[in-house]
Amino acid sequence: MYDIIYHREPLHDKAFLITGGAGFIGSNLVEYLLKHGAGKVRVLDNLSTGFADNLSIYKDIPAFEFYEGDITNTDTCRKACEGITHISHQAALGSVPRSIANPLKTHEVNVTGFLNMLIAARDAGVKRFVYASSSSVYGDHPGLPKQEDLTGHPLSPYAVTKATNELYARVFGKLYGMETLGLRYFNVFGPRQSPTGPYAAVIPLFVQALLDGKSPIIHGDGGQTRDFTFVENAVQANVKAMLTIEPSAFNEVFNIAVGQRVSLLLLWEELQQLTNTTLAPSFVESRTGDVRDSLANISKAALLMDYSPEFTLRAGLQIALAWYKARSYK
Ligand code: NAD
Repeated sequence: MYDIIYHREPLHDKAFLITGGAGFIGSNLVEYLLKHGAGKVRVLDNLSTGFADNLSIYKDIPAFEFYEGDITNTDTCRKACEGITHISHQAALGSVPRSIANPLKTHEVNVTGFLNMLIAARDAGVKRFVYASSSSVYGDHPGLPKQEDLTGHPLSPYAVTKATNELYARVFGKLYGMETLGLRYFNVFGPRQSPTGPYAAVIPLFVQALLDGKSPIIHGDGGQTRDFTFVENAVQANVKAMLTIEPSAFNEVFNIAVGQRVSLLLLWEELQQLTNTTLAPSFVESRTGDVRDSLANISKAALLMDYSPEFTLRAGLQIALAWYKARSYK
């Protein structure tokens, strides 16, 4: 979709496994790898929150393979890791409210499934294991901007699962010589993020409201802030994390964001400007488990992974708006 190249070495001699590759972030990463000639791009996904449609355009590309399966099944994980050189583990059940409604299910996928994947990767001799963590691990720590080594107490079962992932990844690095890199995403948005279902994220919901000509719903007073990150920035982080040869980046975690925050009210303002619309939001009760403010310090990823976000919030919103307008969601 974009012309920016994030890798220096060729990809044709590498075999990538992207778990959760039918989902929002995963499918954008798959697109980059296939576009740039990766030797193999295998997706493992159970299509629980992802869509086969996100991958249908790749089905005739010989380098592309789709395994429909569940990361909670150890045999499935083992098969998926066969012949693979690099893993980006994106499969998980996202959403704080979902984890509050069903903590056991979130744990099963996000912790047991994660551990299954780590073990399968280790046993298949796949050293490089990049994985999706989350800014939610900062929990109740009040400091801004967020620094990787200063986390508070998690505020939701979802945050507990992501913090647990980081602990396991570090231990597997130390015990079994794996090279894990955890990416703490901060509110990623962009094409293929679903606006449907009870756990949709704020930007797709706002855009959908605009397209429907309806008021958006804001939980709380709208003053809460987020470091919204266009998905292509997350793709860059994954590509660089999978390919870096910098040993001090191994078994570390990194903030992946832009390093700027806006309130939900400002976000709505921006979207209205971009679409020449005026609609007052409807305010409802705040959600439990949500953090008030979020802003990343991205200097660690810049230093150790050469991460440098190319897309601002506004540029990303323009691309996302065009994508949602062209879709059948409306
Ligand atoms: P998504 O729901 O679009 O993608 C997740 C994918 O994992 C889906 O395709 C889903 O079908 C698949 N999946 C879920 N359970 C599975 C299972 N048991 N076995 C196999 N596949 C399974 O979500 P996303 O926004 O693309 O998130 C990707 C990753 O990034 C997740 O780990 C998420 O927790 C993390 N993350 C996302 C954000 C964000 O803002 N989108 C922020 C922080 C962290």
